[in-house]
This record gives sequence, C-alpha cells and structure tokens, in this order.
Amino acid sequence: MEKSEIEFRNVSFRYQEEGPWVLRNVSFTIPSSEWVAVIGHNGSGKSTIAKLMNGLLFPQEGEIFVNGTKVSRETVWDIRKNVGMVFQNPDNQFVGTTVRDDVAFGMENHGLVREVMAKRIKESLSAVKMTDYELHEPHRLSGGQKQRVAIASVLAVSPKYIILDEATAMLDPKGRKEIMNTILDVKEQRELSLITITHDLQEVTKADRVLVMNKGEVWMSTAPRELFAEKEKLVEIGLDTPFVAKLAGELNSAGLSLSREPLNHQELLEELWTLRSIR
Ligand code: ADP
Repeated sequence: MEKSEIEFRNVSFRYQEEGPWVLRNVSFTIPSSEWVAVIGHNGSGKSTIAKLMNGLLFPQEGEIFVNGTKVSRETVWDIRKNVGMVFQNPDNQFVGTTVRDDVAFGMENHGLVREVMAKRIKESLSAVKMTDYELHEPHRLSGGQKQRVAIASVLAVSPKYIILDEATAMLDPKGRKEIMNTILDVKEQRELSLITITHDLQEVTKADRVLVMNKGEVWMSTAPRELFAEKEKLVEIGLDTPFVAKLAGELNSAGLSLSREPLNHQELLEELWTLRSIR
C-alpha cells in the first residue's frame, strides 16, 4: 500500500556549492492527517524545509519522500499535486486579474479538464468563504482575503499536504484566528495534513506535533504538551514559551505542582480547580 507520509531521511542542504550547510542530517516523518508546527529562530532552516518538501529545492544529501515517491526533478509535478504551499506575502503569489483566474492558474499545470476546474474553483472558494469575490481583482482585497484566495488556489489542486510558511504572520490576531479556523475546518473535511511554520505560540499549542529547528538541525520533535513542559530547555536555545506555560512554570516553582502541563487558559483553570479541591 502507498505510504501516507512525508519523510526526510538524513537530509543536508546548502544554497551554494562551497557555502555553509543550512540543514544538517535532518530526519523526520509527518504522518497523514497530522498538524505539525515548525518553530525555531530566523535562519534555522524552516523555510528551506518547506521548499524541499514540494520540490522548489533539492537536497545535496539524503532523500525526501512524499507518500512513498522520492522528490526529484522527474517527480516534481506529481509532488506538487500532493504538497501545496502558501507563503507569507500573498501579493507575490497573484498572477490573475480576477480571483477566479488566480485559482484556475494553480490547476493549469495539472492537466485538468475545464469542467473539473470550474467545479474546483467553486468548491475551494466556498471552503475559504470567498465565493462572493470570484470576479474581484485580487490586488484590491484585504490582507486576510488575499490569504484566503491563496489558500483556495492551493486547495483547488486537491493536495494531501498544505504548508503554511508564516502565512498568517501579516494578519492581525482576529484575521489570523479566522484563517486558522477556516484551514482547520478544511483539514478535517478533506483529511489533509498541515505543516505550519509559525512564531505564534498560541497556534503551536493546538498542533499535534512540534518540530523545533535549531541551527539547521532537528532539535526536538514532540507533542506541544511535552515540549512546553520542558520550557527551560526552550529558553536555553532562546525560544519563548506561551503565557500559560510561563504561568504554570511559576506556579510549579511556587510549590503548587500541577498534574499536567496546561496548554490554554481553560486547562490552567481546570488544574487550579483540581488543586483547590485537593487542599
Ligand atoms: P528560517 O525559515 O528558519 O528563517 P531559512 O530556511 O529561510 O530559515 O534560512 C536558513 C539559512 O539559509 C539562513 O542562514 C539563510 O540566510 C539562508 N538562506 C535562505 N535562503 C537563501 C538563499 N536563497 N540563498 C542563500 N542563502 C539562503
């Protein structure tokens, strides 16, 4: 049976032949339907990983497999059918004069017949709640609407994996939350895997797994709860932790031992109620 995962096997990468290695011996697996958040300092190699996943770059050492197919110059179009990518700045991604043209453009390299394309445009604009904007000019939309169109363009190709490379970073907190909720709905409906490169720690707490990159290496790969329970280690490499994790750390140091690492306000409250009833 075909494997449903993205696998990096001992991948090393550098941009120039004699230049510094940007990724060193990176190995990890992203199983299907998981949401993996990738965090790390600027320059730690996160975007490079994203570009290697859909064949925008190729490693000098090691191998990358998407659902069992090795990423190479020969397989790149098949790979891109499976792995869609949304970047931070949507303006760089628009090519069409209308939203509809733009969504269609992404599909054109994939040899779909006209009727299928028309159906997919409607479905993907509906999924991101942009149906009413089909004939609008992409450049005149708000930042959040532009990102929705960029996501619709990716959905139209019907990928199994979607990479969001700081795709919500330019939006305000409300816009960011709305887009993430939309994406999570689509993820569930279509059983997609999601890879988000982000600095938003609140978002990271909701992922299934976190891949922490440090200086071109996988520093840790674990569930958010386990990661934030080891916040001292994160601080050692200079990464921040969410507010709730900090507060839980302070409570633990003050002698109130919480039974688990809370990931949000609700869980923190539940922990505090438990302590209260024990006392
Ligand atoms: P991150 O996404 O974690 O900020 P990147 O993957 O963008 O990290 O960058 C990793 C390293 O590769 C950095 O040192 C960066 O300067 C370098 N780099 C990124 N893109 C290029 C490029 N096109 N040419 C040369 N070096 C690059």
